[in-house]
Amino acid sequence: MTDFADRRQRLLDSLSTDAFIAVNLEDSDPVTLRYLTGFTGEGSLILSGNQAVLLTDSRYTEQANQETDQLAIEEGRGWNVKGLHEALVNRNLKTVTFASARASVYWLEELSKLGALDLTPVRDPVAQLRKTKTPGELAHLRTAAQIADAALNELISWIRVGMNEAEVALQLEWLIRQADTEGLAFSVNCSTGANTALNHYSPVHHPARLEPGHLLLFDFGANVNGYRSDITRTFVVGDPDARAREIYETVLQANCRAIDAVRAGMTGIEADAIARDFISEAGFGPQFGHGLGHGIGLEVHEPPGLSPLSQDTLETGMVVTIEPGIYFTGYGGVRIEDDVIITDEGCEVITAFPKKELISVG
Ligand code: ZN
Ligand code: ZN
Repeated sequence: MTDFADRRQRLLDSLSTDAFIAVNLEDSDPVTLRYLTGFTGEGSLILSGNQAVLLTDSRYTEQANQETDQLAIEEGRGWNVKGLHEALVNRNLKTVTFASARASVYWLEELSKLGALDLTPVRDPVAQLRKTKTPGELAHLRTAAQIADAALNELISWIRVGMNEAEVALQLEWLIRQADTEGLAFSVNCSTGANTALNHYSPVHHPARLEPGHLLLFDFGANVNGYRSDITRTFVVGDPDARAREIYETVLQANCRAIDAVRAGMTGIEADAIARDFISEAGFGPQFGHGLGHGIGLEVHEPPGLSPLSQDTLETGMVVTIEPGIYFTGYGGVRIEDDVIITDEGCEVITAFPKKELISVG
């Protein structure tokens, strides 16, 4: 059985239903179709006990043939609501499960109007399956981490005082694109000065220039066969002030302590608390506003979560980020983010860019 067929079988085994359906229309859910079939275009997938059918149209038929196997491909209008409904009714499929987290209210209303189906929402059953990775998926994630490390390594010797955030981000993007990737994992966060305190900053309008004494933060990743790395490193332009040194050292210790402690069997709450308690004891609790980390894979944020609100328990084969941070509005912040594979005994860190000291650039 191929990886894809195995995933489809495990999904159906986890549900009590005649059929599971997933739709990717106008990029509404590229991940579920790719995970279950390998197909990266638009279409609808119908899985039932004895068949897997991909409904797509002429724009994608050849692509679907190349990207998938052990799958029936039907060309038509099956990706739209009417076509999908017809395909389900023709197959006598009545109880139909779908991921409510990935469906629009409009789509559900339109499909419900046509009747004859018992539509059963489940939050996101495929995301649950995706939490633990296969050896093949781990290989892609390791490569995505290595490419990000190498790109940053090449970038930092090129950086000069006076450059702006946008041109530095563009250079980093170019380095990732010219490697063997599908491009960026997400749009590069290259921020300097006070902008380093903005967690999901992207330099678009009026990018700031690199000035001596300012922090410089990169949060970015590479996409390899759909699998995304997510790494953050914080540098200083020229010489750091005392506050930058202190918060860097505190974040580094929190990152290392969490990495030393995480292992299969630990809850997401427990993992988060290791870093959070250390940062709080150092007096920076209020400046660490986000969770410690999140799963990575086909999406840059996916289960399991590592945070005070997490309901997950870590298992061998899960891949998560460890990313404590301390931020001061108007001054800036430090975050150090690594990607790790959870194992029985601990974890394997797959991001390798140096972090032991606050590196000066420019
Ligand atoms: Zn990140
Ligand atoms: Zn992250």
